[in-house]
Amino acid sequence: MNSKNFLYAFLLFLSPMLAMAQSQKCKTSEIRQQNFLENPALVEQRAKAEVQMQKWIAEEYPTYVAQKDVVTLPIVVHVLWRTQAQNISEAQILSQIEVLNEDFRKMNSDAGNTPAAFQAIAADAEIEFCQASVDPAGNPTNGITRRQITQEFIGDTEDWYSTSAGGQDPWDNSKYINVWICEIDDQGTLGFATPPGTANPPASDGMVIAPEFYGNIGTAAQSVPNHLGRTATHEMGHYLNLEHVWGPTNGGCGEDDFVADTPNQNQDSFGCPSFPETDNCTNGGNGIQYMNFLDYVDDNCMTMFSEGQKARMLAAVNGPRLSLLSSTACGLTINTNDITLVPTTIYPNPTANFIIMDTPLAVGQESVLTIFDISGKVVLVQNYSVTPEMIKVKVEGLNAGIHLVELRFGNNVQGGKLLIEK
Ligand SMILES: [Zn+2]
Repeated sequence: MNSKNFLYAFLLFLSPMLAMAQSQKCKTSEIRQQNFLENPALVEQRAKAEVQMQKWIAEEYPTYVAQKDVVTLPIVVHVLWRTQAQNISEAQILSQIEVLNEDFRKMNSDAGNTPAAFQAIAADAEIEFCQASVDPAGNPTNGITRRQITQEFIGDTEDWYSTSAGGQDPWDNSKYINVWICEIDDQGTLGFATPPGTANPPASDGMVIAPEFYGNIGTAAQSVPNHLGRTATHEMGHYLNLEHVWGPTNGGCGEDDFVADTPNQNQDSFGCPSFPETDNCTNGGNGIQYMNFLDYVDDNCMTMFSEGQKARMLAAVNGPRLSLLSSTACGLTINTNDITLVPTTIYPNPTANFIIMDTPLAVGQESVLTIFDISGKVVLVQNYSVTPEMIKVKVEGLNAGIHLVELRFGNNVQGGKLLIEK
């Protein structure tokens, strides 16, 4: 809420007071404190980033929010499974993308359950997510890696983000939101995330979620009351710089979440309180905002982000998370009819394995070759620092069907339609 409190709050992380007796649904605060203790330089770095984001909200956000379109952020999911049940299906993984997109766009079917008193500040955050369709090498992918492991509760160790330690290295953390699906512990923890600038080491940036709480079908459907995919909604909020509504620790009424439209709240809420729920920090009026995604209530009880939280998340997207916006990991889903191409010879066409494309206009220049499928989704990206006279591209990994091949250099675009046959 005010800018002095957050510096004080960050100092609190270094104090030994972190009393949490009850089971913790989310370990984000604890992991962050641990990272700050291990790498004290992060504290100052993080405080500076916070100042910049607050400045952006004050000075740039009003214009930005009036003009900008929805942003889309790419996700890669790494499944580290020990039992078959933990090796969750692709359908379950994709169901999470839908939940995220509904919750972040205020399209969730239970948005109407937000009490009338908070409806005016319940926000469409104008942020969407996509499952990566292009891997770091530029090849098509379903945005999922899978590894069978033997280590129990790898999410409690520092091994989950390292292939050599038995986990899975991240994909470029600046271009993908890395989500590791693995066992965390048996103490009730559902997940945790790294707010911007707090990951230690940087490779651990992203979030960790236990398999039975990811998505809303398959094994997740059995995980009542955490069965609707709201764990990832909550953790994505942290990843985009949101604090719990009661503040960075459970420090009482003196602690704030740096958002003006979430009422001061003493501590976490559980189950599903009835409106209005008051506490010793907000003891009248509309009470606390227990139905916020950044509280701990049951999945079927949390329904909203606030406008203030939206501003904070967009400050992160346009600040420390900015590199995600230029990621081609999902590519832009575009209307391919909007691209005006200088026709180019592409052969063989139809093809099954590869294409050769003449590049008479592009020789020697930097260029980007992009292949779109018929829905406008990017399925392959290739960057050339020095474009050869003829480009040969393997397309055997792509699905059959009509595609659009585009070679972009400077303001010029050339290419054409391509039919891939199997
Ligand atoms: Zn949390």
